[in-house]
Amino acid sequence: MSNSIIKVEGLHKSYQMGNNALHVLKGIDLDIKAGEMVSIMGSSGSGKSTLLNILGILDNHDRGKYYLNNVKIEKMNETRAAKFRNNYIGFIFQSFNLISFKNAMENVALPLYYQNVSRKKRNMRALEYLDRLGLREWANHLPSELSGGQKQRIAIARALISEPKVILADEPTGALDSQTSYEVMDILQEVNQMGITVIIVTHEDDIAHRTQRIIKLRDGLIDRNELNGKYEPVTSSEIFTSN
Ligand code: ADP
Ligand code: MG
Repeated sequence: MSNSIIKVEGLHKSYQMGNNALHVLKGIDLDIKAGEMVSIMGSSGSGKSTLLNILGILDNHDRGKYYLNNVKIEKMNETRAAKFRNNYIGFIFQSFNLISFKNAMENVALPLYYQNVSRKKRNMRALEYLDRLGLREWANHLPSELSGGQKQRIAIARALISEPKVILADEPTGALDSQTSYEVMDILQEVNQMGITVIIVTHEDDIAHRTQRIIKLRDGLIDRNELNGKYEPVTSSEIFTSN
């Protein structure tokens, strides 16, 4: 057993477009230790979301190996994939992906609904998480009544409520002004300090520099020179001495 929470070896992914295949990931190797905070950068179309969706078991890879918490992830039916996601993963999206006709509390509680937690219990838990994120008094408001920053905090609370080991965030600050972006990054750093592994896709340098490690995707591969070159971890930690 290793302390890798995410280990990827020779990962390939193509999209079939009629008679043509678009080869997006061309042999990705990645090893993320439990408790790390990592950003994934790369130009638009470089496959960042594709990689994150595979890590989050929202999509399948074609070739290569993926181990989540030392469990090999292979093609599985949606029920099993959902179970893995519920146990391990919290997802945060650029566009928040809140349900527009449900209030803040109900949005946060949603993952517990899928775990068959009673309404009373899940609403109580949702209120606790809203409280932690400073949104207790917004519990009965609809997403349309909230600012972008508040919506993303709701989405973070929703991602945290099932106590995931990993938070995967796909451009979580992409729709926010810089002040609000930094507030969201402060929260994600706190989440990481709780011991949760955080992986953030971004194309913004200042956001990436708030993480301990920056991984660059380029031409379907990880650009290793960028990885160990000019970027320094913002906080040193013994996880970096192990490899
Ligand atoms: P990024 O997040 O880095 O901008 P994506 O992973 O979204 O990149 O996309 C990588 C490439 O794969 C792009 O060329 C995109 O158009 C293509 N792509 C993404 N999703 C699909 C899909 N479901 N079907 C076909 N092509 C896709
Ligand atoms: Mg993307």
